[in-house]
Amino acid sequence: MTYFDFHHHHIQRENGIYNLRFNETVPFGLFSAGIHPNDAGWNIPNQFDWLEEISKHKNCVAIGECGLDGLIDVNNSIQEDVFNRQIELANERNKPLIIHCVRRFSQLIPLKKKAKVPMIVHGFNKRKTVGEELQKHQFYLSFGKTVLHHVNLQQFVKDFPLEKLFLETDDDDFNLQELYQKVAELKGITIEELQEKMKENLKIFNISTVL
Ligand SMILES: [Zn+2]
Repeated sequence: MTYFDFHHHHIQRENGIYNLRFNETVPFGLFSAGIHPNDAGWNIPNQFDWLEEISKHKNCVAIGECGLDGLIDVNNSIQEDVFNRQIELANERNKPLIIHCVRRFSQLIPLKKKAKVPMIVHGFNKRKTVGEELQKHQFYLSFGKTVLHHVNLQQFVKDFPLEKLFLETDDDDFNLQELYQKVAELKGITIEELQEKMKENLKIFNISTVL
């Protein structure tokens, strides 16, 4: 366990959670599977058949990415319906939800109470007020590349509880070590302490057994 990559799209990477796509071959390591809002407008029955099966896999540690996106051309109520079904599935499987949310935070927050599992908003890079609202409602947040250069976001990360934090590359191409370095600096702790903290956070999700 070195630099755990909480959400990524790099099939070769071993240390992290790979975002598996519909009908894709299962990777060797941990993965999450879900229906992205982008895909909520087509082929739903087949995608759910796939998801219900694949989510039983022992290395499938979370449902997602799934959620709501205000910038895409997919009907909002369809998006919410597909998302709700994934919340139910996550409850059944007792696996956390990795959330993709763009401009739909006020719609997302009320859905939190339906989930009996942790919800992690991945790639968080929004305003402090949005972040604080999510924090208040017990969301976990996973941060990516933006933290390296966005001063306001750095300020937010500095104050955000380590117990609710993850780090990820998503589909960006950069060295995750730099992000760990930056966040350790902001928190005034060593990289080793940060790695240890990330490991503890993963235990909350019952996935430490496969690390
Ligand atoms: Zn992603």
